[in-house]
Amino acid sequence: MTDIRIFRGNQIGGCVTVISTEYEGDIHRIMIDYGSSLPGSDKQKDFQYPWEEKPVDAVFFTHYHGDHAGRLMEIPKNIPIYMGSTARQVMINIHEALGKSDRVDDAEDHRQQVALLKEDKRVKVFRRQGRCYETVHLPGFQVEPYSVDHSAYDAYMFLIEAADAERPDGKYRILHTGDFRGHGRRGKVMMPLIESYIHEFGKRKVDTLVIEGTMMSRSDEEVLSETEMQMQAARFLYQHKYAFLICSSTNLDSLASFYQAAQMTNRRYGRYIYVYSEYFRKQLELFTKTAGSFTDVYKFERVARLLDMDTIPPGQKKKVPMTRREMMEKFGFLAVIKPEDFYGKYIDMFIDAYKAGRIDEMPVLIYSMWDGYVQEYRIGKNGEKTVNKAKKDAWIDFLRRQEEKGVLVKHLHTSGHAAVQMLADVINAVDPQDKIYPMHTECADDFKTLPIKPELRQRIVTMPE
Ligand SMILES: [Zn+2]
Repeated sequence: MTDIRIFRGNQIGGCVTVISTEYEGDIHRIMIDYGSSLPGSDKQKDFQYPWEEKPVDAVFFTHYHGDHAGRLMEIPKNIPIYMGSTARQVMINIHEALGKSDRVDDAEDHRQQVALLKEDKRVKVFRRQGRCYETVHLPGFQVEPYSVDHSAYDAYMFLIEAADAERPDGKYRILHTGDFRGHGRRGKVMMPLIESYIHEFGKRKVDTLVIEGTMMSRSDEEVLSETEMQMQAARFLYQHKYAFLICSSTNLDSLASFYQAAQMTNRRYGRYIYVYSEYFRKQLELFTKTAGSFTDVYKFERVARLLDMDTIPPGQKKKVPMTRREMMEKFGFLAVIKPEDFYGKYIDMFIDAYKAGRIDEMPVLIYSMWDGYVQEYRIGKNGEKTVNKAKKDAWIDFLRRQEEKGVLVKHLHTSGHAAVQMLADVINAVDPQDKIYPMHTECADDFKTLPIKPELRQRIVTMPE
């Protein structure tokens, strides 16, 4: 019999799924994701899996976000780990940078994570096969990885076929979505993928659907498509020549939106994206080589580092060569910074340039991360106001200080998670025959209010843990 357990499914972040089945007289288990609870979750302490008591044969990571893959080091050394190959390299880049940084106190832990991630025998990556990925065969399980659109690049959902003697064809099928969305550049493929690959055009049915539901508690948030956001960014950058940006270094799609928007301004040298560190430059280089090999949207060709501002870019043929800073003042720029005091100095440089009359506009700041980090309060469904537990006070202060200096702060972001209608569309399309488990959500019960077929509504099971 196949058994599905979801731990911490009723919070956003840190959810762990364990599937077990009996095969040739033994119990076999696989785990999907082992990450950390997000700050502001009700249960701050991470869920501890009883590795000794209930050993798992393998751990699969849906994507590289810390709330899914953040506790890699706690997985016993004998257990193989499966993930996307670009996801693996993104994680290596992150931990290499932190392992070298003197601004973190757990640098040694990061160096150990790099060593682990580089262990080829233990870390297995999904291998491409035509338009899809090779099926992973394990005792009692076959796991088919499918690429999904999310704010992390190289994210997957898994179709798991568990050996099950009680089923007529000997198999129990589980579709685990991981985090996904329909409004990104690659989101449109979800429905055809379900029809052609998951259902094999009606030949194969899914028994259980495990589906994320982050947006159930954030349904008041406006969901722009990634391309709509790009258009808004293009209009904004057209009006504002000196733009700073706060955006995650691993959110490829949004970085591409802002970079492409900067290309649309048609300012010769103003189309450069300046980044705050060598680490950030490396991630863009990785995305250009991987995602950029499929489509030009993900190619970042004009990239420079803010720390090289006072150098002269190579290949300049001018009689009096210009430094990057002079070029930034003359032609404008898009520059990624972090919402930390250390990076505020870059904004100040251009405020000073404005005050000195070298540039004719004040710099602006685009905040493109989840607004939940910079809101003091949360407004509940019935309009009640509560202190927002996910807020980052330092970020709120940083944005406030910029505004006090006269910097226009523009919030422009789109979610990495499926909008409520998309959740309903996926449930209807997958049409699970047995059960639906909502996870990665604070409002699992609200799944019953989704516009889905009545018989599917009956199959929704919410996990108590
Ligand atoms: Zn995620």
